Amino acid sequence: MVDFALTEEEEMLRELAHEFAESELRPNAEHWDNNREYPRDTIRLAHETGLTNLHVPESCGGMGMGVMAEVLVQEELAWGDPGFATAAYANGLTGAPIITGATEEQKQKYLGGLINNGDLCSYCVTEPVAGSDVQSIRTTAVMDGDHYLLNGTKMFITGAGYADWFFVLAYTNKDAGYKGMSGFIVEANWDGVSIGKKEDVMGQRCSDTRSVIFQDVKVPVENLVGGVEGNGWFNAMAAFDLSRPCVAAHAVGLARAAYEHALAYAQERETFGKPIIGHQMIMAKLADMKTDIEAARMLVWKAAWLADNGMPNTEAAAHAKRFAADMSTQATIEAVQIFGGYGYTEEYPVARLMRAAKVMQIYEGASEIQRLIIGREITR
Ligand SMILES: Cc1cc2nc3c(=O)[nH]c(=O)nc-3n(C[C@H](O)[C@H](O)[C@H](O)COP(=O)(O)OP(=O)(O)OC[C@H]3O[C@@H](n4cnc5c(N)ncnc54)[C@H](O)[C@@H]3O)c2cc1C
Repeated sequence: MVDFALTEEEEMLRELAHEFAESELRPNAEHWDNNREYPRDTIRLAHETGLTNLHVPESCGGMGMGVMAEVLVQEELAWGDPGFATAAYANGLTGAPIITGATEEQKQKYLGGLINNGDLCSYCVTEPVAGSDVQSIRTTAVMDGDHYLLNGTKMFITGAGYADWFFVLAYTNKDAGYKGMSGFIVEANWDGVSIGKKEDVMGQRCSDTRSVIFQDVKVPVENLVGGVEGNGWFNAMAAFDLSRPCVAAHAVGLARAAYEHALAYAQERETFGKPIIGHQMIMAKLADMKTDIEAARMLVWKAAWLADNGMPNTEAAAHAKRFAADMSTQATIEAVQIFGGYGYTEEYPVARLMRAAKVMQIYEGASEIQRLIIGREITR
């Protein structure tokens, strides 16, 4: 049976997220972006409203919701402000490898902290010399008595300047290749942890993107994720099956915002004696944008549904992420085009949305990497 209807609970959650986006994000998005201001208070408010940390299990005090709930919320938050949606979702991505791979004690302590204290966390995998090619990371953790000594530099870490703790991928046995990687939970205030300057990024500028440096950080053995070495790669990658549908939903929300702005403008702006929407070429752009947004959402919902029903979704998540990211980049370019010269100014929000969209094709696995994943899956 195919059923596109949301449950009553899902409808309510989506409505809650939409109202939050409309009242708390839309009025502030431009200011946050212009001033590169991290919306810490609004992230706290989103947490209190029940719009972040949805995935934290009930056993840790959370709501234990699935990927479908997350994608509904992400689409609305990104519709309100894509930068905020990225900033607020750092906990979602970082929590995923803990949920799938950590011990019960680790979950209680660190996932519990997200719920009880409103803590923030960041996912530290990328390094200056290794983004797509994760196996080229150089960070190492060497056992030294009752702790590991962690050394390395992570790059482009979302939320790093505000995080209470990090999920860090490191080699514990370089000779074993990806099977020699382990995950660690590292608290931000431990000796040897330092945070780089905020990167001056193209878009989504309220989100906080920084390097994180680990220099002889003593990580207690109890902070080895799952308590066993060698599972880091699997945990870090499994997280993407849960997070990529959410990032794809983010791209859908962003594109929807651009489409709505363009639709409204096309009905007002007149050329050659009629609103530009009366010109078939403009109407066709809007029609294509709407089709592509609908198609992307269906891919997102399928990837989420598979995950929530315990089925493999790696390929579906890659389809959703690749299509939605490319689609939102194209949709925002078309929105700017519909606004003409005004679209190229910061007076209207479409320029900000176009700058915001580009990173969707880069982070959480670039579009090229999604194609590699799909290629691998279809030739298995
Ligand atoms: C704003 C922002 C936030 C981020 N947040 C985080 C975070 O929280 N945590 C984290 O760990 N990382 C984060 N990242 C890092 C992000 O995941 C990486 O930038 C991304 O994976 C690409 O890696 P790279 O930048 O090293 O590019 P590279 O891997 O050097 O790739 C450069 C180009 O080559 C392409 N390419 C690479 N290999 C292949 C191949 N085999 N075939 C075809 N094309 C290929 C890529 O697609 C890309 O277009 C963030 C990045 C940004 C910009």
